[in-house]
Amino acid sequence: MIATWTPRVSLGGHIAVHPFNSTMPPNGELKKSAAAAVQIQNTVEPDINLDKESLQYETNSSESMIAKLQERPGPPFPSTQRAILTPEMGENLNLVLRKIAVREPDHGEAVIQILYTGICRSDASSSVGPGSGYSKQNHIAGHEGIGRVVKSHDPFIIGRTFGIRYLGKSCGSCTYCIRDLFTSCPSQLNVPKHITGTFQEYATVPTGCLVPLPDAFLRADVDLAFCTAALCSGSTALVSVRAAKASLGDVVIVVGVAGAIGHLTGAIAKQVFGARVIGIDLKSKIDVLQSQDHSDYSDILLGAPKTDMGDAWSDFHSTLMQSCDKLRRNHGLRRAAEAVIVASSSFSSFQRLDEYVCDGGRIICVGVPKGNNNMCLPLHSVVERNLHVSGNLMGGHREALEVMEYIATGQIKPRITKVALEDIPEQMQHLVDCKTAGKIVTPFAS
Ligand SMILES: [Zn+2]
Ligand SMILES: [Zn+2]
Repeated sequence: MIATWTPRVSLGGHIAVHPFNSTMPPNGELKKSAAAAVQIQNTVEPDINLDKESLQYETNSSESMIAKLQERPGPPFPSTQRAILTPEMGENLNLVLRKIAVREPDHGEAVIQILYTGICRSDASSSVGPGSGYSKQNHIAGHEGIGRVVKSHDPFIIGRTFGIRYLGKSCGSCTYCIRDLFTSCPSQLNVPKHITGTFQEYATVPTGCLVPLPDAFLRADVDLAFCTAALCSGSTALVSVRAAKASLGDVVIVVGVAGAIGHLTGAIAKQVFGARVIGIDLKSKIDVLQSQDHSDYSDILLGAPKTDMGDAWSDFHSTLMQSCDKLRRNHGLRRAAEAVIVASSSFSSFQRLDEYVCDGGRIICVGVPKGNNNMCLPLHSVVERNLHVSGNLMGGHREALEVMEYIATGQIKPRITKVALEDIPEQMQHLVDCKTAGKIVTPFAS
């Protein structure tokens, strides 16, 4: 276990100098007081490295040092916390703010104080039903969190900063895992399906599900609220652009460009891969984006067609082709885009996608419309024009960290809106109603 914690692991927290047992009664129980929550601010200092001298465990580990560390159980935290949960799942969202207990960690688990959580549309999907594998009662959603370990049986991770993602853990050795298809692993653990989610102040999770954040991101000038967007939406955007095989000067269309995944897809395609981007979304959203600075994630914005039939479609397609010509500066053969990435969750966005791309083009499906929907493509077009169609559920840990690096270095800038914990139910409904833009993030601690 010790050998696995190499220096690349985040050292962003600080083991409290104040002895934790000063707040512990003799029976080892945590002091159950709301004031303890306030003390966390005083005992955990962000952006300061661990006492490296006392953590030379790779070259200087000894039983006595480990024993000494194990005497430091970490900073105090309260016995109860605020959480947004679904008391009883049904057909519609039913999210409430509740006070619940903070669960003590078993061996192999950690209590992590959530600093930020992102809100994804899939959180709304997982909060109704329930879907297969989800609990019907007291479900806590949220799968895009950054937090700091405040208690664990593993003393080396206390005080460190980690990310929490939907794919918490996979076996690493099955047929799918060795092909990098971790989301198909039959032994995977998911947040918030098998593990409690991040819409709470303190989550008790298996330590194997924590994604260590590199020191480079734990600086005062890096806002972790922005990095939160990398954990799910950003990583999904990156694998989608890679699947599109976007190259310098290629034209990439992003459908659903106003959304969390969509605008990050456009930004990565433009700023990292050098592509030119046409962003498409509902006309009402495009009108708003037009009045804002969108040049970092979209060269041209277009309102989606009202229907995929008749004049409405012809007019839309004609504008689309003109936009491609404009971005290519009328150079080369007149043709549609090299790739279309559909990040929208509206089924109407998945119509006539073969007409968005040129021969050899790539159609990447990312959004999943609710219900049982079939996407139709003319076979002659797919075969004779050598089109490539693929689906992308999400990116992995590696992609999440790659996107965090883009954010930390200023290559891309996510559009985030910060909302309070108690406002999550309202925001989740807005997501269902397609009324949001960019990424919504809840900061827990000031
Ligand atoms: Zn997500
Ligand atoms: Zn596996």
